[in-house]
Amino acid sequence: MDRTEDVAALAARKDELARNLAQVEERISSACAAVGRAREEVTLIVVTKTYPASDVRLLAELGVRHVAENRDQDAAPKAAASTDLPLTWHFVGQLQTNKVRSVVGYADEVQSVDRLKLVGSLSSAALRAEREVGCLLQVALDAEVGERGERGGVSPDGVEELAAAVAEAPGLRLDGLMTVAPLSGEYAGRQRAAFERLMEISTRLRTAHPAATMVSAGMSADLDEAVAAGATHVRVGTAVLGVRPRLG
Ligand SMILES: *Cc1c(COP(=O)(O)O)cnc(C)c1O
Repeated sequence: MDRTEDVAALAARKDELARNLAQVEERISSACAAVGRAREEVTLIVVTKTYPASDVRLLAELGVRHVAENRDQDAAPKAAASTDLPLTWHFVGQLQTNKVRSVVGYADEVQSVDRLKLVGSLSSAALRAEREVGCLLQVALDAEVGERGERGGVSPDGVEELAAAVAEAPGLRLDGLMTVAPLSGEYAGRQRAAFERLMEISTRLRTAHPAATMVSAGMSADLDEAVAAGATHVRVGTAVLGVRPRLG
């Protein structure tokens, strides 16, 4: 592409993103209105995985302030290309301990904390980087007692112990909970019930950790149910950026 085509393509992409954002905004507003919540109670996080840094830049120009990624190898270069933008970066993917040091370099919030070993690694990395890293515990609502979810996540019975570990870990801040609606088990196809269960777990968590108020739930397909149940953060990819070409 020459320069003029490049500019035209970016302008077209920006229009497309603006239209999609307006639709998502409308869904969040309606879902809030339906249950008497104020629109400001819900923060939109745009999940930019598989899409280029140029989209991240356009989103920032359109007023997006929170973006999320799920793979360090894609996220790290995108974050590095975006340091001039006023963005908060969320890491939402399954996290291997050998990636923690890199992730702590750009992530303001790690939403996928699901085991004690990860807490130790995140804490050391945060101290070394002289950063405070916000942590959400990823809850697998379909995981059996003492198990982890297939796509990561601590079982509900493990939340208390993990929360205490994060709360005590230097360099980490316990901000709340995250979930992905289960595809199997008793909550399969019952997103609203799943998100209400997460809210109950959040209420219990906040008796011991009053500042851990974030509840990250809801994606393109079910953000309306998540907002109705009380989510404070929704993570939306497809509905803003389009259908991803490959799984990610
Ligand atoms: C990809 C992803 C999302 C966004 O999913 P969409 O269906 O594209 O909106 C949200 N949360 C997590 C953890 C993801 O991996």
